[in-house]
Amino acid sequence: MTSLYQERREDEAMGAQSGERLVEVDGLKTYYGEEGGLLGGKPVKAVDGVTFDVHRGETLGLVGESGCGKSTLGRTLMQLETATAGSVEYDGTDITTLSGKKLKEWRQNVQMVFQDPDSSLNTRMTVGELVMEPLNVHSWKTPQKRRERVRELLDVVGLSEEHYYRYPFQFSGGQKQRIGIARALALEPDFLVLDEPVSALDVSVQAKILNLLDDLQDEFGLTYLLIAHDLSVVEHICDRVAVMYLGNIMEIGPVDAIFDEPANPYTNSLLSAIPEPKPNAEKSRITLRGTPPSPRDPPSGCVFSTRCPYKIRPDAYENLDDDVWEGIEVFREVLRERGDVTKSVRDRLRGLLGMETTGMDVEEVVADTFDQLDVPSDVQQYIDEAVEHVERDDLVSAQEVLHEEFGSVCENEEPEQLAVGDTGRVSRCHRHREEYMGTQTYQDVHDFS
Ligand code: ADP
Ligand code: MG
Repeated sequence: MTSLYQERREDEAMGAQSGERLVEVDGLKTYYGEEGGLLGGKPVKAVDGVTFDVHRGETLGLVGESGCGKSTLGRTLMQLETATAGSVEYDGTDITTLSGKKLKEWRQNVQMVFQDPDSSLNTRMTVGELVMEPLNVHSWKTPQKRRERVRELLDVVGLSEEHYYRYPFQFSGGQKQRIGIARALALEPDFLVLDEPVSALDVSVQAKILNLLDDLQDEFGLTYLLIAHDLSVVEHICDRVAVMYLGNIMEIGPVDAIFDEPANPYTNSLLSAIPEPKPNAEKSRITLRGTPPSPRDPPSGCVFSTRCPYKIRPDAYENLDDDVWEGIEVFREVLRERGDVTKSVRDRLRGLLGMETTGMDVEEVVADTFDQLDVPSDVQQYIDEAVEHVERDDLVSAQEVLHEEFGSVCENEEPEQLAVGDTGRVSRCHRHREEYMGTQTYQDVHDFS
């Protein structure tokens, strides 16, 4: 490669060592449909206040269930979506305020690789034209130099000169993704957002593309944000990982630290879903209660509070029988799902713990949940009060009664990002606060004192 690449590689290697920040994201929000219209004008809070950095030369993984806002976050970092609030500083410049010529200039530094190479490549262009397109758009050097550059890029991504005049349909999925990568590299970017770059590929091809990305990163000193839902990919490729739930980053830090000992209850349940044949790992799969809330109507306090197995109880109920407590949580979740106007009836039917609760009247739900249990009379009194409200079709009051009595800090206060351990990891959970560390069962699972 050219000497330009050489110089840059040395720079970036130094940056990576010192943890220099290339991208600094602060309080970033991206809402869809804010202009009103859809569903009572409630916007989709796809990204709802994230603060993190991407270090120069690293691969930062971004994981979380489908719909949690990963692509929206990636697209907002690229300025393909407009931020609703907050800032994104790239190399010290707030890019959310750029427009026109400045924006176009800046765009050369950053590129995106998409999941589906089929839909991201124009089928009527030859491979050579496809890879040259970004060079043409930015009037890169001379036409002669552009052709040379395209040949060089084909070589870099493991394609050959003879592919220049062929069309995408003549290529396999893996080869098409190589074309996508060549396009992304054309303008010598520093930062790539890779949005599930191998999800659409066969497993055998996935490894090849991931190795290619790894080699390219070393060769050109690239910085990656790698969006993935396959956690094993993240574990093997990334330096750090950010875990997203309902538009929030719940935990971010070094991959090893997070995979070995997740600090955040959400990370813990997400990781419990990976089958891992480690001899001594006593990991049991955690099944979460209920369904994920809608990003149009996220829970108050901690966004994970409606499903969290480690939710903090109010003091008065710390010693309440665990099954009764779980019953109260399930009952509250039933009411929340019933009240969730953004969910289809079908979603609500599928809802909870295998219970088909929508068709049941509220007395039956309560009977099902509490009948075998020894419910203290003071608890029973609030349940009865809630049932009365439901019978008068007043779901809101029912929810309020239960929230007031059984709600805790988890539903009332948004957790801050707190440092956990000394690896630079941060996590958003009230459990990390001194006063809540020792309560109930959490300390058995997470001993970070
Ligand atoms: P992920 O990549 O984690 O699967 P997305 O960022 O694609 O999540 O979506 C986050 C949320 O935003 C989802 O609820 C999705 O339905 C919604 N969403 C994504 N794009 C749009 C859009 N263009 N308009 C409205 N809602 C959208
Ligand atoms: Mg996505």
